Amino acid sequence: MSEDAPFLKPNEYRDTWCGQVLGDRVGEEVVVSGWVHRRRDHGGLVFIDLRDRTGMVQLVFNPDESGGSFDLGHTLRPEFVVSARGRVVARDPGTVNPEMATGEYEIHVEAAEILAESDTPPFEIEGFRSEVGEEVRLRHRYLDLRRPRMQEAIALRHRLVTEMRSFLDRSGFLEIETPVLTRSTPEGARDFLVPSRQHRGSFFALPQSPQLFKQLLMVSGFERYFQVARCFRDEDLRADRQPDFTQLDLEMSFVGVEDVIELNERLMAYLLGQMGVDAATPFPRISWDEAMVRFGTDRPDMRFGHEVVDLTEVLRGTEFKAFGGVIESGGAVCGINFGERDLPRAQLDGLIEEARELGAKGLVWAFCEDGGWRAPIAKFLSAEEQTGLNEALGAEEGDLMLVAADEHHVAAGILGGLRTRLAERWDLIPEGPDRLVWVVDWPMFEQDPDTGDWNALHHPFTAPDGEFDPADPGSAKAQAYDLVWNGVELGGGSIRINRPDVQRQVFRTLGIEDEEAEERFGFLLEALRYGAPPHGGIAYGIDRFAALLAGFDSIRDVIAFPKTASGSDPLTGAPSPVDDHQLREVGLTSRKQAPKSS
Ligand code: ASP
Repeated sequence: MSEDAPFLKPNEYRDTWCGQVLGDRVGEEVVVSGWVHRRRDHGGLVFIDLRDRTGMVQLVFNPDESGGSFDLGHTLRPEFVVSARGRVVARDPGTVNPEMATGEYEIHVEAAEILAESDTPPFEIEGFRSEVGEEVRLRHRYLDLRRPRMQEAIALRHRLVTEMRSFLDRSGFLEIETPVLTRSTPEGARDFLVPSRQHRGSFFALPQSPQLFKQLLMVSGFERYFQVARCFRDEDLRADRQPDFTQLDLEMSFVGVEDVIELNERLMAYLLGQMGVDAATPFPRISWDEAMVRFGTDRPDMRFGHEVVDLTEVLRGTEFKAFGGVIESGGAVCGINFGERDLPRAQLDGLIEEARELGAKGLVWAFCEDGGWRAPIAKFLSAEEQTGLNEALGAEEGDLMLVAADEHHVAAGILGGLRTRLAERWDLIPEGPDRLVWVVDWPMFEQDPDTGDWNALHHPFTAPDGEFDPADPGSAKAQAYDLVWNGVELGGGSIRINRPDVQRQVFRTLGIEDEEAEERFGFLLEALRYGAPPHGGIAYGIDRFAALLAGFDSIRDVIAFPKTASGSDPLTGAPSPVDDHQLREVGLTSRKQAPKSS
């Protein structure tokens, strides 16, 4: 990192960054400051690896040169904060440390001072993740963040956001802040509520996104808006979700789907290019329907094949009840050919378990053998059915096929889920370029199978594609698009409804009758009556984006102060009880227990 070391104005603490102690400084006297990373005592000499934001350098305390500071060298402990002055010397060839950027040089200390002592840290700063539980890392996050890998991740995130701002600024976007204390902005999660002291009994909601405000900004005529926006969603526990997270949120006026996609492809190609990832534009597009059929998911990873194949027609009329029964009742049988594979029985059974976790009633495995099937259920299928299945799945000798029967989207979804899980385990993804793909032509609504209610697939402000028939919500398509990167959703957006009558109709379809719509969204409906231009936009999850770029699995690693997977902060102890006085001020009493039905 030494080349990008920040500008340094020399002062009493330092005139040189640790990472800058390189060949051009040999023979010079320098002053450095930082944290003791490691101490080694050797034959009367003390070696200290001193760490600052830019890297590390070795300090040598020796009795001849270090004078009165020599004894101090012995007292240094990990994470003490130290300032040292000394001469830069080229190390003897035998003592060069190739692991360290400054490993060919060292500083022979002439004077040093302890600026702050440190308790023994609860874990080593040295190795990243060296066997430390996450709870402990987060409890002492300020130490965890000292780790060079974490420093790099946070710096990468900064660069990403800076490049976002710079591209959008050059493209005529204004960064405008929208309120954090506001009314509910539905994005499909629960709201976090904040009680009002001045208006007892009333609550602010924290925004799930700036959606409604950015639409109002389009009504205001700003034309192009963006924001690096904190959003808040009170969702049930899911791995790797944060209750508060950050979006790059943007909106444009007088645009259609193509305009938004075009700008965003340039934005993404620019950002990825800056971060060292090649992404050729235009990005391919796949319709939502096709993605669901071929990959069983609306986030298809298109870097590899092993697609879902519909086997229903091959098996129509089969004697095998587990398949035949499903087909007769309108369901489907789907399969994936995972290629030649040799797996022991226990692992195959393990796959059945995994399929169950994904919601499958069962899973069939089979190997292609002598043109037919080798499988526990092979005896129930005719020779003709077996060859037909192999043909449909393109199976060759030794190939493993996994098959599921259910309603089509369920069967495809389970296989798609397995495909995603197995991709890394079985090394299915070939070396090759990253794949960004737009998923387009989304349905407007999806029906809750239990209640029959219609819900918005994106959010209620998404514009339908053409006229939509309120009597048949299932057939309405949305002017919506998601950007998926190697199987991960990076962002999603849509063209918005800019007519109050259409907005009302969509609300009604969602079961929000006019009176309720007026109560909850009257301000939007009213604004739409004052000349709302056609507009649309998108939002990207910055945490996820940065985590992918930094090569971390967890978004928590690119958030300076994240919550645990269970939504709490071990560092500050949030969320925490508040005293009765505070509650009384906002007109509340605490039951101190979660309500039974949540
Ligand atoms: N508000 C949407 C979201 O948070 C993004 C958008 O439609 O622009 O997902």
